[in-house]
Amino acid sequence: MHKTSVPGVWRRFKNRYQIVGTQCETCKTNFYPPRELCPKCRRGGKISEKKFAGLGKIVTYTRVHAAPAGYEKQVPYAVAIVQLEEGPMLTTQIVDYNTDELKIGQSVRATFRKMYEDGDEGIIHYGTKFTPIRES
Ligand SMILES: [Zn+2]
Repeated sequence: MHKTSVPGVWRRFKNRYQIVGTQCETCKTNFYPPRELCPKCRRGGKISEKKFAGLGKIVTYTRVHAAPAGYEKQVPYAVAIVQLEEGPMLTTQIVDYNTDELKIGQSVRATFRKMYEDGDEGIIHYGTKFTPIRES
């Protein structure tokens, strides 16, 4: 194995899974999921790509006991609305949490995990989830 291959692969992996949205450069509003049009500036808005740090706080959460197909192994799991530091809110799964960490205002960070497996083909899908930030 070439010494340079591992960091190279990791860099590509990280880029692929960053949280990338958009920003309206005119009014500095951030969008995630990315938007092509700023609802405030309309045609006066200049939209560009924006990478988010992946840090945020839980706005609200719920525990899901009945899972859709493909998620059966993960029941019960926690779904939360997380507000990113940059402003946008997204719905996401919370993983690796202790019961007392599942609360409004909890600081969380993005992590990339297996989302679900397609039964027969065994195709594994990855995506962004969030995990509590622990002070140590
Ligand atoms: Zn705007």
